[in-house]
Amino acid sequence: MGSVPVAAGGGRFPAYFDERVETMPRADITALQEARLRLLLRHAYEHAPLIRQVWQAAGVSPSDIRSLDDFAAKAPFTSKDHVRAFRDQGGDPFGGMNSADPHYLKGVTFTSGTTGDPTPVLRGGRSISEICTMRDSWMLGARPGDYVTVVRPTFRVGHVNRHYQEAGLIPILFKHAPAILPDFFRAARLYRPSLHYFLSTPLLIAMEEYFEKTGTDPRAIFDGCHGATVGGEPLSPRRLEVVRSWGLDLFEVSGLGESLTLVECPAHDGMHAWEDQALIECLDVRDDSPVPDGEVGELVVTVLNDPFQPMVRYRTDDLVTVSRSPCACGRTHARIRIVGRKSDQTFVAGRPVMPRDLQLAIEGQRASRAGLFQIIRFADEMDALRIRIGYDPAALAGTIEAHGEALRDALEGAVGVPVEVLLTPDAELLKLGPPHKIPRVAKA
Ligand SMILES: [Zn+2]
Repeated sequence: MGSVPVAAGGGRFPAYFDERVETMPRADITALQEARLRLLLRHAYEHAPLIRQVWQAAGVSPSDIRSLDDFAAKAPFTSKDHVRAFRDQGGDPFGGMNSADPHYLKGVTFTSGTTGDPTPVLRGGRSISEICTMRDSWMLGARPGDYVTVVRPTFRVGHVNRHYQEAGLIPILFKHAPAILPDFFRAARLYRPSLHYFLSTPLLIAMEEYFEKTGTDPRAIFDGCHGATVGGEPLSPRRLEVVRSWGLDLFEVSGLGESLTLVECPAHDGMHAWEDQALIECLDVRDDSPVPDGEVGELVVTVLNDPFQPMVRYRTDDLVTVSRSPCACGRTHARIRIVGRKSDQTFVAGRPVMPRDLQLAIEGQRASRAGLFQIIRFADEMDALRIRIGYDPAALAGTIEAHGEALRDALEGAVGVPVEVLLTPDAELLKLGPPHKIPRVAKA
């Protein structure tokens, strides 16, 4: 085990929410996964129509899977496309993924629908997302009796956040909208929350503007808190630097399947995946073979402990690297870094371009420092990178043409392919996506 994190709350509390599980040796994690996988497969095959259909089509049954190796060799994949096709054909709103006994179902929420229709997410009496959030909030330093702010994107408004209360925390809820910022800052000053849940790029842009316009000192607001989780998309280097200058530490979060999350720990060395809850695979995009730790592959998830919505070998479309070595925080569960979405990779003049390759060049231009942009994919293989970039009309130093040329030159220098820039005011670009992010690639 590495260095043990310091317990908050004056040492009254242990350092881990669930030490036995969080620091479990790798061999024990594997044994637990194997046992849970066998139970899951029987349940999913019996109760989730889509899983049965996909496995029958592949000629595989749960009894063929006796080990994780069998699973890797034989289990068929599922994806969002399978779920949508099943739903559209049969009229089942859950796309063949509801395996819940309705007596135990407590609600339905939805994903943001960034890449298509929102996907329903089933909630039970104590969902695994709640168990994991308790561990996560503890990992980030919140302890019983602490206030936390929780910003809910509009598509999750109304979702009950029992897990905060069950962890002993006192959540202060806000809708995800820049208009809430004065109330949010007032609450932060009055209640001194120990954590802020779910900030996003658009909210952080609005905060930066607010602090500049009002002359408010961000350090006075965030002083003493452990930090904030930030999700929706990985933050750009400039945004990270700006927010850290406010005295606010940021912990990246991302989705894992539809019901679990990945959360960075205070060691800031990748986002932890709770592997007692999820079997994660990182697979070569060319042939689906496993890639070694540290190499880029597609993240494929099997949720081991969810009786409501069994995700079995579910393709996430996220390109990631995985590390299974123990973390400096003492936790043994894998850490994941997201490289981008597989579907966001765009081929220009024969070269692959990912959105993150463009970010620094765009943010380096003052009027586009918000880093808002969208690749316009007008063909599968493009001769030039066509890109819509946001700008702040009030921050233009010269003409808009000169700004466009400076962006084009910076981008061509960064990615080495011809670039066509279309400029759109930041405010317009922000309207293109769900409230907490903008889709980075759009069809022409
Ligand atoms: Zn860690």
